[in-house]
Amino acid sequence: MHTLKIKDLNVEIDGKKIIQDFNLTINSKEIHVIMGPNGIGKSTLTKVIMGDPSYKITKGTIEYDGKKINNLKTDERARLGIFLSMQNPSEIEGVTNADFLKAAVSKKQENFKLLPFVKEVNELYKEFNMDTNMTNRPLNVGFSGGEKKKNEIIQMYLLKPSLILLDEVDSGLDVDSLKLVGEKIMEYYQKEECAILLITHYQRLLDYIKPDFVHIMKQGSIIKSGDNSLVAEVEKKGYNAFTKEDENE
Ligand code: ADP
Ligand code: MG
Repeated sequence: MHTLKIKDLNVEIDGKKIIQDFNLTINSKEIHVIMGPNGIGKSTLTKVIMGDPSYKITKGTIEYDGKKINNLKTDERARLGIFLSMQNPSEIEGVTNADFLKAAVSKKQENFKLLPFVKEVNELYKEFNMDTNMTNRPLNVGFSGGEKKKNEIIQMYLLKPSLILLDEVDSGLDVDSLKLVGEKIMEYYQKEECAILLITHYQRLLDYIKPDFVHIMKQGSIIKSGDNSLVAEVEKKGYNAFTKEDENE
């Protein structure tokens, strides 16, 4: 059982306050969804959990399994089992997909063996309807939006994290790929009994990934939490219907 605990988190970039007095606890075998208007800090939150040094934590703590991780580097957090599928995955010239995956997985696995790894990668590419030749291309360079997202989820399968942060994993996916990716995430969730924090704007992905908790984020913190029914309420009323005063309803 793993727990991510975010307490009174405040985050700035270039002196601009983005996240303010943010609190959230996520346990294994829980799926949390965060929804909210553009530009309110959802991606920032995922990047801060993953340890992106561009952002400055001015107050508060992030704990994983009872240990404060505020000052850990991204790779140290990854080795604890935290994984982020980014909203806009980076393109990296000069590093092939295969080399990138091998570097990440071999650092995490104690008894890393190349042949079973290559076999697993090839099988995953086939399962995700991706051409296995793509493993020899530079990481994400020239990949379509949907291919980048599938590539992120393939990385997740290989790294076997215990906490998955999925930032708009549905963007760029066609309907068939959305179903495939949604079902693969659920398959992983059920098998590994991990925790999921999902950021999305749309109901569609939630046809496959059923949240236990839905949170609305505005003005840098969670202003309302509820169950799955909150998603339909947001779709019907829009975010303007929710204000900070809803918090203590
Ligand atoms: P969301 O994911 O909710 O749409 P973001 O977390 O991406 O929002 O961004 C929140 C705010 O922080 C935005 O106003 C954005 O422009 C700003 N921001 C995020 N990252 C940076 C950065 N690296 N440099 C400057 N401003 C940033
Ligand atoms: Mg975002």
